[in-house]
Amino acid sequence: MLKYLLVVLARDATSFCHYEAGGRRRGGADMIPLDRLEAAVLFALKNNLKVNFLYPGRRLGRAYDKLVESVDHVKIVPFAARSGHPGAILVVESSEIPGAADLAGLRGENFILRLRRADLPLLAAALKRLLPRAKRINVVLADVAGCGEAEYAEYRRQLEKILPEVLKLAARPDPPELNVLTDRLALGRMNNCEAGLAHLTVGPNGRLYLCPAFYYADPHESLGEIRGEIGIGNRRLLELKCAPICRICDAYQCKRCVFLNRALTLELNTPSAEQCRLAHVEREASRLYLGRLRESGSGEGLADIPEIAYQDPFDVAVEKKMSIADFKKL
Ligand code: SF4
Ligand code: SF4
Repeated sequence: MLKYLLVVLARDATSFCHYEAGGRRRGGADMIPLDRLEAAVLFALKNNLKVNFLYPGRRLGRAYDKLVESVDHVKIVPFAARSGHPGAILVVESSEIPGAADLAGLRGENFILRLRRADLPLLAAALKRLLPRAKRINVVLADVAGCGEAEYAEYRRQLEKILPEVLKLAARPDPPELNVLTDRLALGRMNNCEAGLAHLTVGPNGRLYLCPAFYYADPHESLGEIRGEIGIGNRRLLELKCAPICRICDAYQCKRCVFLNRALTLELNTPSAEQCRLAHVEREASRLYLGRLRESGSGEGLADIPEIAYQDPFDVAVEKKMSIADFKKL
């Protein structure tokens, strides 16, 4: 069931996930046309959807502001544009980690930290700076394709390095959440991105997409215009029940990104090794964190995260020689 709509207000709106946004075009034809924005807002109102507006770093103008404010929404903005959007989710790029002066005065913020592979060794330091100012931080690796053993090892090192800091803050009355470390503790089943199922995206051309990444990959690959009935070809391929490898997996915090699936394996419902390995680094770090929480006398009521001997559920399927028929029985 659709729960929310993402609206990319301009071609250079901030990315919040595993894709790169576009740049500005000469001539200014890069903002969503007002009538298309109005159609998106009406669609959201009619279907009782919350809207996540993705903003560029510049101001859009009063007509845009008025339409945005006419619907229940969340703003996602680049960190540099924070002063114009109080309460917005702030996107921090790992190449531009804010200094102490920039963070002074911020408290209880929602951050998205877009981490580049090259900046992996900076992750713990970046989190240490943001966590005391945060209500929640979502870390997302911007460039997943091409990650290998060195990146998995570094990711693990960095998550283990930040663990004591998260543990220290857990004693606060309002401990911050860190998606890659604390989410798995609270989950008993898959909690994935669900592009095309829980949310759809309106691109800056006013057309519908599974998510912004699909717009930036190919604007022609649209689901069509905003209207009552939205036809998604092969919609079932987006569902967990049609993702055999994910069905034998308990890295419940994984985004199960269908865009990465399609980009890296050419199949919407088949995950790449990169995605699975990274999600299992997070799962293991979460397991270690749970152990430390318990040692410190808290963590009561949280379910165990079992120790496992694999780092990619695909290896389990291969080892057990699981066939399509086996998966159908699950
Ligand atoms: S880790 Fe891999 S198998 Fe598990 S949910 Fe994520 S994509 Fe699917
Ligand atoms: S499918 Fe979901 S996780 Fe993947 S890029 Fe799109 S919004 Fe992000």
